[in-house]
Amino acid sequence: MVEKSDIKILVLDDEPFMLKLLSRMLTNLGFTQVQTCTGGTAALMEFDSPNTPPDLILLDLNMPGMDGIEFMRHLVGRHYTGSLILISGEDERVLQTAEKLVLAHKIPALGHLHKPVNPESLSALLNKWTPPSPAIALTSIKAYSADEVGEAIAKGELINYYQPKVAVTNGKVIGVESLVRWRHPQNGIVGPDHFIGVAEEYGLIDDLTRAVVKEAFAQTRIWQDCGLNLRVAINISMKNLALLEFADYITAAAANAGITPDSIVLEVTETQLMKDLSAPLEILTRLRLKRFGLSIDDFGTGHSSFSQLRDIPFNELKVDQGFVHNAANNSTLRAIYTVSLHVAKQLGMKTVAEGVADQADWDFLRNTGCDLAQGNFISEPLPGAEIPNWIRGWEADIEQLMQRSSSLEFMH
Ligand code: C2E
Ligand code: CA
Ligand code: CA
Repeated sequence: MVEKSDIKILVLDDEPFMLKLLSRMLTNLGFTQVQTCTGGTAALMEFDSPNTPPDLILLDLNMPGMDGIEFMRHLVGRHYTGSLILISGEDERVLQTAEKLVLAHKIPALGHLHKPVNPESLSALLNKWTPPSPAIALTSIKAYSADEVGEAIAKGELINYYQPKVAVTNGKVIGVESLVRWRHPQNGIVGPDHFIGVAEEYGLIDDLTRAVVKEAFAQTRIWQDCGLNLRVAINISMKNLALLEFADYITAAAANAGITPDSIVLEVTETQLMKDLSAPLEILTRLRLKRFGLSIDDFGTGHSSFSQLRDIPFNELKVDQGFVHNAANNSTLRAIYTVSLHVAKQLGMKTVAEGVADQADWDFLRNTGCDLAQGNFISEPLPGAEIPNWIRGWEADIEQLMQRSSSLEFMH
């Protein structure tokens, strides 16, 4: 157990009055090792001395000379392993952006405080402090080679997990999204972020998609045979849409599995800008004519945006999880979420909110007119065989969940 008096805190602010005020608050809260500095340069000299660096820095963003953002960059250069709390009189969005920057630098940000700082908010943030864990920084994404990924596809080591999508109004399970995993003989279950990029770059994505489609269509049929009519979504890479045969391939695969196109949704994300849109346009339009569902994935990020909506006949829009999770508490996210939903409605499209991660996200959605919800709050992606059981459990709990949400609505 770390005592408050063991935690070394540095407060950096150009205003001596603020320094006095903050040190007094910290001392009153029981933090006795508090050091103050009026400028970045002086603070960095402290870092370059043999003294142990602080565990926590309270950093003012607006300082003449070296500002808080520049100071952060110097911290990264010095491999700072402690935490940060940002302080500023700027508006909420500037503070949020700065906080993202801290996290992008892999420095734990405990949060931000508005000036004038009140002791309660300061204390709440300080309570979040934990000693640094060296292991976390090192778990970066492992990249596999094209040969390894190619072999995995050939050996049938890829398997699909399925994440439920439920209707927001009544909680009914409407469908699932297929998310590929690699059952790696040594490394266990490996997520798609570790190999989709490689597959796209080295010409393996067509083979990968075919493996995914084959398994997903067969699974759709199995569920149908036991009375479960689920709409099954599959992720398609824009690179799959370079060859015109793709439309015929998907149509034939569905027919072979004995399922109709309206039980399939193709989720399309554009990760790179496509120079020539003529093949994707032709393929997607033909698939839509055959009644496959077309969903624009990760809406609002990368190249997944308004021009796609204009050009491609999507009938479903998935609001990216980055605009869903926490939208209840963040007015910027809420604005983007609301606009996305509105555009979709105007175009007669269904909407899916992805990344519904907690009760607050779910309660928020209930009042927004969104059609479907997907996310770990509802269920994590599961192996296909576990879906029927999960649905039984979920349906048993629905009433309670809906009652809670409607009593909230009543309160609003
Ligand atoms: P995506 O299509 O946006 O899929 C949603 C991702 O968000 C999944 O990650 C899912 O596990 C994760 N997720 C779901 N709910 C939550 C939540 O509440 N909180 C958080 N933090 N995450 C949540 P996953 O399975 O790692 O997939 C990552 C991406 O890989 C997918 O993003 C998709 O773009 C791609 N992908 C997955 N399967 C395939 C595939 O078969 N083919 C292609 N081309 N891409 C695929
Ligand atoms: Ca998707
Ligand atoms: Ca997505």
